[in-house]
Amino acid sequence: MNLKGKRISIIGAGKSGVATAEIAKSLGATPFISDSAKIKDKTVLEKLATLEIYCEFGGHTSKALACDLMVVSPGVSANAEIIFDAKQAGIIVWPEIELAYRLCRGKIVGITGSNGKTTTTALIGEIFKNAGLPTFVCGNIGNPFVAIAQQVPENGYAIVELSSFQLEQIESFKPDIAVFLNLTPDHLDRHDGLEAYIDAKMRIFENQKVGDVAVVNYDDQTLSKRCPEVKSRLVWFSLQKMLDDGIWATTEGSIFDGKTELMKSSDVKIKGEHNLSNACAAIGAALSAGISKDKLVEILKSFAGVEHRLEPVRLIGGVSYINDSKGTNVDSVFWALKAVPAPVILIAGGKDKGGDFSALNEMVIKKVKLVILIGQASDKIEATWSKLVTCIRADSMEDAILKARINSKPGDTVLLSPGCASFDMFDNYEHRGQVFKKAVWDLKPEGASK
Ligand code: ADP
Repeated sequence: MNLKGKRISIIGAGKSGVATAEIAKSLGATPFISDSAKIKDKTVLEKLATLEIYCEFGGHTSKALACDLMVVSPGVSANAEIIFDAKQAGIIVWPEIELAYRLCRGKIVGITGSNGKTTTTALIGEIFKNAGLPTFVCGNIGNPFVAIAQQVPENGYAIVELSSFQLEQIESFKPDIAVFLNLTPDHLDRHDGLEAYIDAKMRIFENQKVGDVAVVNYDDQTLSKRCPEVKSRLVWFSLQKMLDDGIWATTEGSIFDGKTELMKSSDVKIKGEHNLSNACAAIGAALSAGISKDKLVEILKSFAGVEHRLEPVRLIGGVSYINDSKGTNVDSVFWALKAVPAPVILIAGGKDKGGDFSALNEMVIKKVKLVILIGQASDKIEATWSKLVTCIRADSMEDAILKARINSKPGDTVLLSPGCASFDMFDNYEHRGQVFKKAVWDLKPEGASK
């Protein structure tokens, strides 16, 4: 692809935008970064100054439209006005992954779904590395695809976590192996309803051809209905159906590839039914790439998961503290509650994302002995659950941990799985998880003086 002499406008000055600008410049193009927000991060500003990249912050002006190509960062919605204006002006608009795709010589494993993307992306990455393949884990997991695209050799793999915003805008982007985990109505606030959200994610298969592979969750009704339309080879995975040709597992039994037993389900290190499903998806991707059973089983037995996702923090006074700060929607709280032993003291709340907490009623009755509420969504959650279980309030995470401690008995689980975004009290979910972990580690052992 020849970018020499081209003027490229980049929307968004995050990690991906800066990486795009750097690469565009190295390829002889003239990049211009435009961000609707004011950028305060000194390191970003210094980097852009050192690279001598022109930018504008705090709004998009007509300068952003003076270009041959517009590249859009992952966090920017396809409905943004600047994108609309660019298309009206006849400018080619690509998401960052489209540019990265065209720069990448290696193969691509793309992972999408509503929940479990980061965990499965990291797991697939570990398996591919263990098989000795040159492996580059990237995308929404934190490392922009565009930043590593040119480093992937022909025999290597980019393992890319994909957001629906990025997929929504692709042109020819095509993963060799597309993994679709599940669909739940998250991010409805940012798309035009459920259908648009599903359509955006389904684009992961759009450019696939006969030699490509689609690894898809059989248990998801929307996916099992829509995916038989794909042109690539379908590899289903399921926790509900014995598949003659596909990956399936039972929680109490084993994981199978068709009729071949691969391993005991209980030997998968990451716990919970949802993680067994993620493991089956990763196996589907690995086997499709020709990776041997031994290499993948080794990793499934040792992969401990990703920080802030059902992360065991500490066992103190017989009470287990678990950090699931990334549980930012109702569905992920369901799976977290399902995965941990009862009785549970659940710390929930934060900035409401419009989720329906009554969907958890049955699970709350079954497993939760106390709910400790934090943040803006406290009233809403209390109104839903106070008839089912005792709900109390906490002013801060530290206060929540102290209240959890006072109310716990040996054998209990204290679970932070908020079901909400974090921005009312924290910078992001990572910050919320860190504050939780620190407060837990600050607890003095039983009998110690404060
Ligand atoms: P994503 O990157 O899609 O947000 P993560 O791997 O970061 O997914 O996990 C986020 C949360 O979603 C976890 O804390 C966990 O509670 C829940 N989760 C993970 N995998 C699944 C799954 N397959 N189905 C439902 N919930 C899941």
